[in-house]
Amino acid sequence: MRIILLGPPGAGKGTQAVRMSQKLGLPHVSTGDLLRQNASSGTPLGLEAKDYMQKGLLVPDGLVSRMLRDRFAQDDTGSGFILDGYPRNLKQAEELDKLLKEDGMSVDVVFYLEASEPVVVQRLSGRLVCRECQANFHRQNMPPKKDMVCDRCGGQLYQRSDDRPETIKKRLEVYRSDAQPLVSYYEKAGKLRRLDADQKLETVLDKMVGFVRSQDDSLKV
Ligand code: AMP
Repeated sequence: MRIILLGPPGAGKGTQAVRMSQKLGLPHVSTGDLLRQNASSGTPLGLEAKDYMQKGLLVPDGLVSRMLRDRFAQDDTGSGFILDGYPRNLKQAEELDKLLKEDGMSVDVVFYLEASEPVVVQRLSGRLVCRECQANFHRQNMPPKKDMVCDRCGGQLYQRSDDRPETIKKRLEVYRSDAQPLVSYYEKAGKLRRLDADQKLETVLDKMVGFVRSQDDSLKV
């Protein structure tokens, strides 16, 4: 099952993707996480991407699609994936279709997590991320048991530099200009399912997992 999570930064795509991945046994593929890993380990791709990311701008399509192609070449994505942070514009959606078609595959479902601006700003400005395992926490909504320490692996938590107010604003602007054509693209293809992501994470998660299992009951319970 090849699943895409679409929605503004702060809609909960990353957190939902991790939980869905555990429930369904499908790998979580996040272009943002892959780019941050490249940036922190100083690869040529990471060095090129870093400046765009710090400004809240999109990294050039060519770089991201090459990185995704390498990720899809790994065996674990053979039976499907949960894609988070890609595609971000129409060109990337077409690129993804092309990439999958080369292996005789296609996208199965696109969950569109619609969230209002005050909710996403609150979620992003309080978000904390683990340096080691990338798990997400939130200062108010989902605080770690021990201050600034990851519950899952004991790693140190930090605030992403692009989760500061000025950059959040820029990221939301970038998202708004590219999102609508993308939504229409998947709606026309009959693949889009809208969800109100202002609701509790568990409510949204249950709806998505329920839908996926109704399509493919072989997926892990
Ligand atoms: P995210 O973790 O999805 O919020 O992504 C963080 C940053 O990584 C974005 O603001 C972009 O600079 C970059 N990024 C992630 N995914 C993409 C993508 N599909 N295309 C271009 N840039 C991306």
